[in-house]
This record gives sequence, structure tokens and C-alpha cells, in this order.
Amino acid sequence: MAQQTDYVDFKEVKSVLFFNQMKVDSTVFNSYEIKFDILKETDSVYLDAVDMKFMNVALNEASISYKNDGKKLIIYNEFEASRSYKLNFLFFAAPKKAMYFVGWEDSSTSSGQVWTQGQGKYTSHWMPSIDDMNDKIEFDLSFAAPKGYQVISNGKMVSKRETPLYNLWEYDMQKPMSSYLVALAIGKFDKKVEYSKSGIPLEMYYYPEDSMKFEPTYRHTKQMFDFLEDEIGVPFPWQNYKQVPVKDFLYAGMENTSATIFADSFVIDSIAFVDKNYVNVNAHELAHQWFGDLVTETSGTHHWLQEGFATYYALLAERNIFGDAYYYWRLYEYAQELLEQEKAGGNTSLLDPKSSSITFYKKGAWVLYMLRERVGNNAFKKAVKNYLEKYQYKNVETDNFISEVEKASGLDLSEFVEVWLEDEKYLYEDCINTLKKNSKDISELLELDQEFMLSSHSLDYSFNRYWEQATSYEIKSHLFSKDAISLVHDSIIRKALNSKDIKIRQAVAQNLYKIPLELKIEYESLLDDKSYITIEVALFNLWKNFPQERQKYFDKTKNIQGFSNKNIRMLWLALNIISPDFEDKKIREYYQELTNYTSPEYGFEVRQNAFQYLNQIQACGEVCKGNLEQATKHHNWRFSKFAKELLKSKQ
Ligand SMILES: [Zn+2]
Repeated sequence: MAQQTDYVDFKEVKSVLFFNQMKVDSTVFNSYEIKFDILKETDSVYLDAVDMKFMNVALNEASISYKNDGKKLIIYNEFEASRSYKLNFLFFAAPKKAMYFVGWEDSSTSSGQVWTQGQGKYTSHWMPSIDDMNDKIEFDLSFAAPKGYQVISNGKMVSKRETPLYNLWEYDMQKPMSSYLVALAIGKFDKKVEYSKSGIPLEMYYYPEDSMKFEPTYRHTKQMFDFLEDEIGVPFPWQNYKQVPVKDFLYAGMENTSATIFADSFVIDSIAFVDKNYVNVNAHELAHQWFGDLVTETSGTHHWLQEGFATYYALLAERNIFGDAYYYWRLYEYAQELLEQEKAGGNTSLLDPKSSSITFYKKGAWVLYMLRERVGNNAFKKAVKNYLEKYQYKNVETDNFISEVEKASGLDLSEFVEVWLEDEKYLYEDCINTLKKNSKDISELLELDQEFMLSSHSLDYSFNRYWEQATSYEIKSHLFSKDAISLVHDSIIRKALNSKDIKIRQAVAQNLYKIPLELKIEYESLLDDKSYITIEVALFNLWKNFPQERQKYFDKTKNIQGFSNKNIRMLWLALNIISPDFEDKKIREYYQELTNYTSPEYGFEVRQNAFQYLNQIQACGEVCKGNLEQATKHHNWRFSKFAKELLKSKQ
């Protein structure tokens, strides 16, 4: 069957969308104009448009016959080849997905948001567009939104006009993109702007109340941007780069063209930075601005051209910040995950559109790493640059990339392609041997492991030697893994707890459940660590091991919230509620606070945590149950699934 892209080329959309807070979950009275070229004569063209209503449909300013079948708007006309047309109409949409209204209808809070997710959801649920990513269109969008809200979309904001009720925001794109990359975020935000070395504005948005979290959240942004422009060798392809956190987002982040949207759980303070930060997601979505947005896969078969590249370039950007050791440890971890997948029978070809995320992202990154090893730095960089320049603002397939690498290197890569891209096998040994050659840390780890296994000395001697020989925390931490720690002598655990290294101490905290009395004082010092993971597990383990000292531990941690999901606060509340001897009269207050965290006012990460605790202590009362019922209809499927299962277990 002929694809529409064979006979129509959509060029340019201009649309104005209207939002208000009175009418829930919908846009009203939106105007739309699209220009297109006819490549081959045809009697109809269509736009994807789900459950919309249309008025005043006109082709080249004259009314025209059309059909709205609930999925498409189909225009009937004798379209002639090599002619350009313009289609105009008004449309009404009440999107069930791809555009989400979060707390928007609730006038009691002023924190309402509207945001979109195109990939995997289809922009055609909120705006007529083309679901096929092979037709790239220049989208110039304007929005009428209530005063007091920021509106962020693709491209450059060229005007903001005030009317008595609305502000009208006009955005301009200069280059085309696939429809799934069209984005919008409306909410209450402040922003800071930095400029890249090349002069691109980097607009970083945040909630007004999070000004203290701005720096840790966006740490290293400019350095990574400058690095990637330099490393990729092709200037950033869009007018500016915006990043916006939103509530209850579906993924970690989404690389909408020039307007990345990310989950506000990545908005963190400087303590959280140690354990959970935005750096990798930040770099990943940024890399997609080239790999995905500038050149876009023709189909899922070539998905690694987006995710493998974004994962690989994010690692390179992190290497530039955190150093070589960090880089190789992440590659080592990816290799372990791929090995696990293999053991579970999950291997697929990288070119299988049904591959797992691990394959697309991590095997994809590994393939690029091995390819660079094979052809050398210069040829690799030259090939990537040529590939991006040749196919910019177009669609790509794996062969397009490989043939650029062959040209730049003068090598025949057919065997490489067969082994690494087409074959299902994952060549773990090859990867590890390459790492061993390139990384001092990895070769040290492998040697120590080897020596340990072959050692004829006593276990204590061998563990001690391992501890003394290991030069980095990643290696030392291996001693305190779940499987190993029960065999390790207390004297080594004491050394670990006496070390200043927050990650070694964390490994002990996470895996030592029974605390020997003689290590009590050392273990208690974990409550002072600047890590929310460490404090959470240490509080729980101390509470459990030393019941008579609970009040002391509660006092020490009573003012700590933890990550944005309030991990420490909620544990603290739950433990207090089930430790009735302590602060008796406040139990009611604590219970109310914990229950309150189940309400829709909070993000789903907070709510899920609260539901879990209340369930564990068997204290999910009427309010909690009502909120749980409501959560079963949440737009985030993981959260609604969780709520449904929990609700079912209660019946
Ligand atoms: Zn990605």
C-alpha cells in the first residue's frame, strides 16, 4: 500500500491553541493552518486527528468537502502534482492522552500544569498532525493561556501579548521535525538562562519554590552542552535549548525538539545529588537533539540510532565531567546488565524493533564503543559528522550510518554489522576484554576477583588482602555486596565504617541487616552521612536492631525529608506509628500526615510511597482508600497498575 508520504509532503503548520481553567481537560476554538506540496496526483489527503471536531474547513481559502472519521480528517479534492496547497480550519479537542492536565481543574491550588508526551502516544490526540515520523514539518505554535502561567514550546518565543484574560504566547520554529517531537508545557515556572560557548541560550525552568534546588538539579548543564557540540562536531541544530520539569511525568525525560520535558522528581538538593541526579538524563535528552530530532529513524528497526547514540553520547559527556574511571564503570555495569538479560534468554538483534530498552540503549551504546575501537577516533568522529550533515532534518536507517563509517575509515564493516548489529548474541567476553585493556580499574577488579577465587589462604586473609589491594570504592564495595558481607570479618566492616567514603559506607548500610553490638557506634554514625539512601536504611536497621534506643534515632532524623519522594520522612512517620511507646500523643498527627501524602496534591512517587507504608502497617483508612480508588485512574500506567493491584489485595 502506498504511504501518504509518497504523494504528499507537509511543510508548515501554524496553529493557535486556547487553554482556560474553567473548562477541564480540553482546548477550545483552536485555529489551524497547514501548507503542503503534492508530489503525485491524488483525490484525498489526510491528517491524523483523534476524536476532534472541525469547523470552517477550507482549502486555499475555499470551503471543501471533508470527512472526520474520529481518527483522521480526510480532505477530498483533485490534488495536482507539483502544486502547493493551504488548508485551514478550527478544531476542538479533549485529549485523553498525549496531553495531560495535572491539577489544572483544581482552583484551590495554583500549581496546575498542562504538558504533552508525543513519543509512543501520538500528538494527533491534541493537535492534528502526522503520526508517521517520516514527514517532517515546521511547527509554529501559539498558545492562549491564563495569566500567571508560563508557556514553553518548541522553538523561539517571539512574542508574548497580554489581553485582559489571557496571555498569547507565540513560538517560532525555523526547521522541520517529526510530529512526535512537538511539545508544550504550561505551569508556574521561573527560569534561568545561560549561554553556550557557541551562543545558544540554555533556558532552565524550575518551580518558584525550588530556587535552592536549581543549582544541584542543573549542575554541569553548560559544560555538557559545550562538550557535546564539540564532540559531535555539528553545531546544535535548533534556536535554543529549554528544559522543563513537570509533575507526574511518564518517563525520566523526553527529548522534544529544543524543549526537553523531564520528571520533577529529578529536581533535587545537593545532598540528593550524591545518589540520584539529573546529569545522565540531562545529557541523554540533549544528545537526542542531534540523534533523534535532527536525524530521525524511519522505523523501530533503527531505534538504536536514537537510543544507542543518546546513551553513548551521554556517557561521553559524563566522562568529560566525572572522569575515565566513572565512564568505564558505567560501561562495565551496562555489560553486566546485558549479561543478565542474556542469562534470562532476552537477547535480540539490535535491529529487532521488539528489542528491550536494555538492548536499544545499552547494547546500542556498547556497539558504538566497539565500533570506535575498531575504526579509530578520527574516522568515527568524521563519520558521525558526515552522517548528521548529510541527513539533517531527514530520516535515517542503519545503513546510512554504517556506510558513512565505511567511507571515513576505508574499512569493510560487513562482518562487524553481522556480529554486533544483526546477530542476537551479546559478545560479553569481547566487551570485558576491551574494558580490561582500556581501564586500570576494571583490570584491577578482574585480577583481584581472580586472585580471591584461586586463593588457598583463609577467607579472612583473602578478604583483608582484597580490602588492602583495592584502590577504588567501586572495587572495595564489592566486599559488602548482599552475598559477600555475611562472610566478611567485623574488623573489615569496621574499617569500611571508619572510612570517609560515603559510597563504601552506603554499601555497608544497605547490606548489613544485623548490626553487631561492637559496631553499634560506628554504625550509628551513618545517620550523619550526607546521603538520603544511607540515612533511610540506617534509620530502619538501627530501629530494628536496638529497640531501646529508638527515641534517640527518631530525634536525630526528625527534620529530614529525604528525596522528593520523602523517603526518610515517610519511614520516620511509619516507624513512629508502629512504635507506640514513643511520643504517644502525636501518633494521630503522624498518621494524618502520612495519609495526607496519598492525596493527588502530591506527585505519584510520594503517593506510591505513602500507600505502601500505610499498607505495610495496615493503616490504610477511609481517606487513604478513597485516594487509592482515585489513583487507579491515574494517567501514569505504572502508578495506576500499582493502585489497582493494591486495591485488589484489600478486597
Ligand atoms: Zn532516549
